[in-house]
Amino acid sequence: MATAAKRWRLVLFGRPGSGKSSLGESIAAGFGFTLVRTGELLRDAVKRGDSLGLEVDRLLRQGRLVSDELIGGLIEPILRELQHADVLFDGYPRSIGQVPQLEAFERKLGFRVDTYLEIAVDRDAAVRRMGGRRVCSVCGATYHLLTRPPRVEGVCDLDQAPLETRRDDSVEVIARRQQVYEEVTGPVVEYYRSHDPSRFRSVDGGRTHDEVNRDALRALGLADAPTTRGS
Ligand code: AMP
Repeated sequence: MATAAKRWRLVLFGRPGSGKSSLGESIAAGFGFTLVRTGELLRDAVKRGDSLGLEVDRLLRQGRLVSDELIGGLIEPILRELQHADVLFDGYPRSIGQVPQLEAFERKLGFRVDTYLEIAVDRDAAVRRMGGRRVCSVCGATYHLLTRPPRVEGVCDLDQAPLETRRDDSVEVIARRQQVYEEVTGPVVEYYRSHDPSRFRSVDGGRTHDEVNRDALRALGLADAPTTRGS
């Protein structure tokens, strides 16, 4: 969305398995947003295999969150680089300590989040969905065996690299991540719902991909925005 002055800052919330990542990808592709996915940044750190990566790997395997300080340090240079881009946050802020951290970035870097959007899905439905998730081993694009299969089985549509199951999508880790979401991120969502209702929206994520997409675009104020896709 290459308009002159206004720069968009949107935040997506949703428990693991809510469809949040797929929605973020389609908004980014459709409207020219840059996705800032803290989970992806952390997985990149793991791939680099340095001492930070090893520590992050240990926490991710347990389905635990990394510290607010580490996330802040990871995200700040990226936000500086993206001052002139439209940004969609996926996975941040994720703990109550990251709320004032984001507010401090808003002040320091001179932006304001437009909308906080929750994709609301119940736990059982989210757990069922997570079992079918596959991600591209190279670009990180997200697929689902039932709801969003790749054109060719096991292969990414975008770069033809093999798809893989995320290491933190095992049954035990899925349960742990649901619990972490409820205990740690739930209060963040409730904070915005009650303290900042004019910027907070929630859509029912328990329906088809297209229905959720449509409602989400409306809630984010993007329903009438020009798309970067040809259609
Ligand atoms: P995601 O890809 O968003 O599901 O994130 C994968 C994992 O990365 C999470 O289960 C957390 O362990 C970690 N993570 C991602 N974002 C954050 C964050 N903002 N704060 C702390 N840990 C995070």
